[in-house]
Amino acid sequence: MQMQSSLVCCGNCGAESRFPFLLHAEELEPPDLDTRPGEELRLSIGSWVARCPFCGYCAGDISSIHELAGPVVDSEGYHRQLQDSRFPDKANDFVCHALILERTGQYADAGWTMLHAAWVCDDHGRLDAADLCRQGALRAWTVGKAHGQAFHESHASEFLIVSDVHRRLGEFEHALTACNEGCEAENLPELLDHCFRLERSLISRKEKGRGSMRDLAIYRGANASPREEPQ
Ligand SMILES: [Zn+2]
Repeated sequence: MQMQSSLVCCGNCGAESRFPFLLHAEELEPPDLDTRPGEELRLSIGSWVARCPFCGYCAGDISSIHELAGPVVDSEGYHRQLQDSRFPDKANDFVCHALILERTGQYADAGWTMLHAAWVCDDHGRLDAADLCRQGALRAWTVGKAHGQAFHESHASEFLIVSDVHRRLGEFEHALTACNEGCEAENLPELLDHCFRLERSLISRKEKGRGSMRDLAIYRGANASPREEPQ
């Protein structure tokens, strides 16, 4: 993984700070069912969002800012979130960026940003915080769908992601419902079909941990199938 640091002028307050940037990272293993990249791209998550140390503005690129974002960054609720001790600092950066995205009507992206916050919480073993972030992701995507915003390439892949997020929350019934709805899609691509089988297997075992596509039957050999718990 190659990182480089560079000086950035904050689009909100104009102060200059130095930030690490990801130059290059290989994805050496398949992603998770919720799209989290495999190693080593996975490890670069800390560089996906930056926080201005002067005004607290959080974004992927803080050199520019949406015209409606300034008042959000200045708000009391935003600053409370920046220092919320229930979450790791980096998760707060993502959650704060999501607050801005919601305010500017970018609900699909806000949902993804909340999921990124959840991944940071996972890495820190902060499971309660991860749950709050996953609930936030589902909420933002639901609002986004009501505004006609897709958050992934097809209905079927959206159902797979929603199913996996519910499963990671321990909401196995909701996870199974989303799984079943996703499988009803016509002309389901083979890869997605295998992902749904893996998801279903994880749900049947009430597995809340990471579901990696490296466990897909098609990656493990033609005769392999996801492990099933004896009934
Ligand atoms: Zn600033």
